[in-house]
Amino acid sequence: MTDDLIIDGDALREDIEQTATFGAVKSSEGRGRTALPADEANRKARDYYVDQCKAAGLDISIDPVGNIVGRWVPPNADPESTAVAAGSHLDSVPRGGIFDGPLGVFAALESVRAIQRSKISPRRPIEVVSFTGEEGTRFAEGVLGSTVAAGKASVDEMLSQSDGDITLEKALKNIGYHGSDRIDANKWDSWLELHIEQTTRLNDAGVPLGVVTDITGTVRCHVTLTGHPDHAGTTAMDKRQDALTAASELVLAVESHAGDIASSGSETAVGTVGHLTPEPNTVNVVPGEVSLRIDLRSTKQSEITSQLEHVQGKLNEIEANRPISTTFTCDYDIPPTPLSDRCRDTVKQVSEDHQVNTIDIHSGAGHDTMQIADVTDAALLFVASENGYSHSPKEKADWEDCTSATQILAASIAQLAK
Ligand SMILES: [Zn+2]
Repeated sequence: MTDDLIIDGDALREDIEQTATFGAVKSSEGRGRTALPADEANRKARDYYVDQCKAAGLDISIDPVGNIVGRWVPPNADPESTAVAAGSHLDSVPRGGIFDGPLGVFAALESVRAIQRSKISPRRPIEVVSFTGEEGTRFAEGVLGSTVAAGKASVDEMLSQSDGDITLEKALKNIGYHGSDRIDANKWDSWLELHIEQTTRLNDAGVPLGVVTDITGTVRCHVTLTGHPDHAGTTAMDKRQDALTAASELVLAVESHAGDIASSGSETAVGTVGHLTPEPNTVNVVPGEVSLRIDLRSTKQSEITSQLEHVQGKLNEIEANRPISTTFTCDYDIPPTPLSDRCRDTVKQVSEDHQVNTIDIHSGAGHDTMQIADVTDAALLFVASENGYSHSPKEKADWEDCTSATQILAASIAQLAK
C-alpha cells in the first residue's frame, strides 16, 4: 500500500540544518542552538517552517499562543472529517541540540510531502503542528502551547505569563505570531510525535526506533527547613539549629527511596533534589534556612505517591529529632500518561511492514504528546540518540535513522488517514 512512499532524507536534513542556523551556538562539542519561545531565533525558525509549509501547499493557522498548524486536505479527503495531526516544537533550551523539536516538526512536514508525491489517497485532512514553548525556559514551566491546544489551560492565563520583562502576549505580537485562529486538539482523530531519544536505551539495544508505551508522571515540590543562623565558631554542636544538615538527611532519603523502588523492579521511578539554597550561605554561619525543590517521577502513580509519602515521613522524622521546622508543598503534578493502543499498534505494524526494528520503551521526559494524549489517541516515537546527550550541542542522531523513522511516521500517518 505504501510502497511508493519515499522520504527525501536530504530535504529533511536541509530543514533541520536550516533551523539550526537560527540562534546557532558555537561549540567544539557539536552543533547547538538557542531559540527560546518568541525570541528572534524562534521567529526565524517559525518563518522558515511557515514558508516550507506554504511551499508544500498547506494552509497556515496560528492561534493566540502562537501554535502553528499547516493543514493539507488531500484531493479525495472529506474536509469535514477529523484530521490526523503530527509535529513537535521549534523552541529549544539555552544551548540545546538541533534535533530536539525540529526533527518532529519537519519529519511531519516531510511525511506530508512524501504522501503528496505518492499514489496514496488519504481520506482525512493531515495537519503539521509546531507547538509554542515546549521546553519551559520562558513564560511557563513547559508544554505551554499543547496545554492550551488540549483545552487544559486558558489562552488568557498563558498570554499573561511574563518572563519578568514582558508578557507572552507582547512577545508573540513582537514576532508576529499572536494569531486569532483556533487550534483544538480535541478535534484531531489522532496525533503522532517523532522525537530524538534523550538517553541511550535504543542505541544500546541497536534499534533505530522506539515506540513509547507511557510518558512518566512528574511531581515537583518545594520544601523549606527552618532552624536558626548562628556563629559557626561560638555555637556549640549541641546548641545548633542547622537547616542544611537536616536538609542533607532529606536529600539522601529521596535518593535511597527511589533507589529502593528501582531495585524492587521499577524501571521508571526516579527522585531528584536538583535545586537547593541555604541561607545565609556563608562559610562562618550555621545555615538557618534551606529551601529546596524535589522532582519525583514514575510511569506508575503508586510509585510517585510512595515517594511523596516517604518525603513527608522523613520531614516528620527530622522535626521530631532536630530543632527544625519544615514546610512541604507540591505545585506541579502531571500524572503518568499511557499512550494509545490504536496508534502504537499502527506504528508497530507499519514498522514491521517496512522491516524497521522497534522496541517498546517509556519516556522519562515530558513532551507535548502527554497533553495531547489526554484528549485524543496519541503515539510518541523515539529516534535513537548516538550518545544519549540531550539539551546540549552534543546531542546527535544518525541522519539515516532520522530518514527511516520519518518513513515510519509517514506510513503511520497515511494508515491513520486512510
Ligand atoms: Zn523536545
